[in-house]
Amino acid sequence: MIYRRKLLAALGTTWSFGVFAEQHAVKIWDVIIVGSGVAGLSAACSALQAGAKSVLILEKGPVVGGHSILSTGYVAGVDRKRQEKLGIKDSPELMLQNMLDIGGGKNDYELAKIVCDNSESVINWLEDLGVKWDDRIFQTVAGLHPRSHITSLVRAGYDYVMALLQYAVNHGATLKLKTKVTGLITENGTVKGVIVQNINGMSQEFIGKTVILATGGFTANVELRTRYDPRLGEIFPTTANPFGSTFDGATGDGLLMALELGAATKDAEYLQLIPFWGGRLLDYVGGDIYVNIVGKRFVNEAASWKEVSEAILQQPQCEMWAITDSQSQKGASLGIKLIKKVIKKANTVEEMALEMKVSPKVLKQTLDEYNSNARIGLDPLYGKNLFTQTIDRPPYYFGKEKLGVHFCCGGIKFNKNAQVVKTNGAIIPRLYVCGEASGGPHGHDRMGELL
Ligand SMILES: Cc1cc2nc3c(=O)[nH]c(=O)nc-3n(C[C@H](O)[C@H](O)[C@H](O)COP(=O)(O)OP(=O)(O)OC[C@H]3O[C@@H](n4cnc5c(N)ncnc54)[C@H](O)[C@@H]3O)c2cc1C
Repeated sequence: MIYRRKLLAALGTTWSFGVFAEQHAVKIWDVIIVGSGVAGLSAACSALQAGAKSVLILEKGPVVGGHSILSTGYVAGVDRKRQEKLGIKDSPELMLQNMLDIGGGKNDYELAKIVCDNSESVINWLEDLGVKWDDRIFQTVAGLHPRSHITSLVRAGYDYVMALLQYAVNHGATLKLKTKVTGLITENGTVKGVIVQNINGMSQEFIGKTVILATGGFTANVELRTRYDPRLGEIFPTTANPFGSTFDGATGDGLLMALELGAATKDAEYLQLIPFWGGRLLDYVGGDIYVNIVGKRFVNEAASWKEVSEAILQQPQCEMWAITDSQSQKGASLGIKLIKKVIKKANTVEEMALEMKVSPKVLKQTLDEYNSNARIGLDPLYGKNLFTQTIDRPPYYFGKEKLGVHFCCGGIKFNKNAQVVKTNGAIIPRLYVCGEASGGPHGHDRMGELL
């Protein structure tokens, strides 16, 4: 969504399909968008705002929203209006520094800067489209600074998907569900449309002046993800579909189609793993502690996801427990997690240790040490320096965590105009990419929580 301005400029250029149209007598769409997640819907709204007359959104799934609708819904962005009220100082420069720190300096600097310079306008733009941000601002895990916005603590991704969808449809966009794009149509290297398998299983062509790949990542495609990171075989579930029971469109279709046309990739080998078995109740930093299966701390809970997940991979059975208490701000999933016993409750540390099958003495020592560090705001063992509370007010809430494949930090290489770039450095005319399908700004890890 960050690239919408550049995209608009590109869409504004003229393109004549006159002869083509006459020969084939087919509708020529101003913009064809593949995928209806937050990236595709943002592109649709932006195109309409820029004057596009016909916008077609093609979605292979039975419903809109891809991973976006499942998302917890935190959106990082400088937002002086809200941050200043809460005494938080922030700037695009600080955000960029945080992004480069988390990305290990592998980020495409120019693209990362565009993201940060425009983050405030993205927050405001979404608000103008009807997204109602909560006044609280959170520092999410790996966010490094309090700048994450959310609409509510319950599946907030749903809220922005619905706001964008409503705007797009009300302003004339056409949405086709259960319509899978299977290929790109080109003429002399220029993209001219898409081939789809439609709702009836039939092949059909759509012709457009511009095609935008907003197909999301490839976390759900085991063959593709092991091509880029051989460790990520079937044993790792995805965070979008942890039990393998629902539709997950993140199969890298856009990436595969772009590769066929000679597109380059950037940082595709960096897939983000996060603990997502259900045991974590908090997505913000400071209210929980992670311990391994013998009850000892092993990582700075405020570190990047890359650091946290690499540390979990080193622990016995690659598992950990997340523990919080009565003081933290928990989402609505708590009730169902308690019913399903993914999260358990205990009134004493001893009771919790018994359930976790760890030594009560070790667990008590770990918590005592953590709490005395939390009181002074500094953790000499792992360097955590953000504590919103101590963890000493029962009931305790605790759950086991395992890693899931969460996010593709890289993908299709693109330039500052959101155009797809080939391995030889040239662009593929009329082909654009946005969202998780793209690669460049993040580097080797994603700053939390930045779409
Ligand atoms: C559980 C969970 C929680 C998350 N929480 C956060 C958070 O709090 N903050 C944050 O910033 N990020 C979060 N993320 C990540 C974030 O949701 C994604 O990075 C983001 O939604 C990607 O948006 P997108 O539009 O690029 O892709 P998606 O939302 O995945 O949309 C892509 C769409 O393209 C469709 N598609 C794919 N191929 C084709 C094809 N061939 N033809 C037609 N359609 C196709 C897919 O079906 C899908 O609907 C979370 C992710 C998950 C799984």
